[in-house]
Amino acid sequence: MSFKIYLAKTRGMCAGVDRAIRVVNLALERYGAGKVWVLHEVVHNHHVVQDLKNKGAVFVESLSEIPDGSVVIFSAHGVGIATFNEAKERHLTIIDATCPLVSRIHRKMNRAGLEGKDAVVIGHAGHQEVTGTIGQYMGDPSKVHVILTPEDVAALNISDNAAIFATQTTLSVDETAKTVAALKERFPHIEGPKTDDTCFATQHRQGAVKKLAQICDVVLVAGSKNSSNSNRLREVAASCGAQAYLVEDHLELQSKWFDGIKAVGLTAGASVPEYVVDGILKFLREKSNCDVEEIGEAPVKRSFALPQGV
Ligand code: SF4
Repeated sequence: MSFKIYLAKTRGMCAGVDRAIRVVNLALERYGAGKVWVLHEVVHNHHVVQDLKNKGAVFVESLSEIPDGSVVIFSAHGVGIATFNEAKERHLTIIDATCPLVSRIHRKMNRAGLEGKDAVVIGHAGHQEVTGTIGQYMGDPSKVHVILTPEDVAALNISDNAAIFATQTTLSVDETAKTVAALKERFPHIEGPKTDDTCFATQHRQGAVKKLAQICDVVLVAGSKNSSNSNRLREVAASCGAQAYLVEDHLELQSKWFDGIKAVGLTAGASVPEYVVDGILKFLREKSNCDVEEIGEAPVKRSFALPQGV
């Protein structure tokens, strides 16, 4: 087996994920193992969650599982206002690890609710981020509409002059552009971002994986199955013609994927630690005496200030 590996320079952990993980680690230092409760997976990556569990963080799916007066961390995906209120009533110490780019969308939803405007959210219904975003609308819930595709736009029954739209941060840039175009065509006065709310990390990683897919027969995307941005990376690579696989880590790689292949691309979702990428590279190098070349733009370095409480 002999192939070359192309590694996307822009890959892996984003600023929002890095911040959320730092928040849990700092909370563990401050309050101790077993004393820090995290509502939902802090980021959607199996390795990250397991590492933090091993250090003593306790992950739960409901506030009711947390003893009164404890410390709770809200995940990078954000939560709705009702969850904040319930945590306050239960005298929990809240540390909010919601990514600041998600919080920005929350503020738009807050305003729309106060003004009684319809709010169209483009995203995957049931995803943690979308659930948190719609939970920030404190008005008539029938005025919140979750859609995904251009076809969904036709079914909307809203007023053109009193509506806003927002998008999940980790969608496919290209697919979302089609939905936004359909929305603006039907409702020319709808308020919203110029393009969409997909974040810089999502945009840059999708741009990088397109470059990989143009020159590679196979593209590997490291990421967990419940990671929205990782799934979108796999889809973008597949839409460019590559055989694309989403893998948790090197243990999921199958040798037959690389039979007769000349070039393999590798990238990682925004919640994936670099050691997962290293493990995949090690596996591939053991299969083939291959060169590795990093390609694409250098990643844009950003960081976000920490929230209160850590
Ligand atoms: S993917 Fe984007 S929105 Fe999500 S945590 Fe990272 S920077 Fe924030």
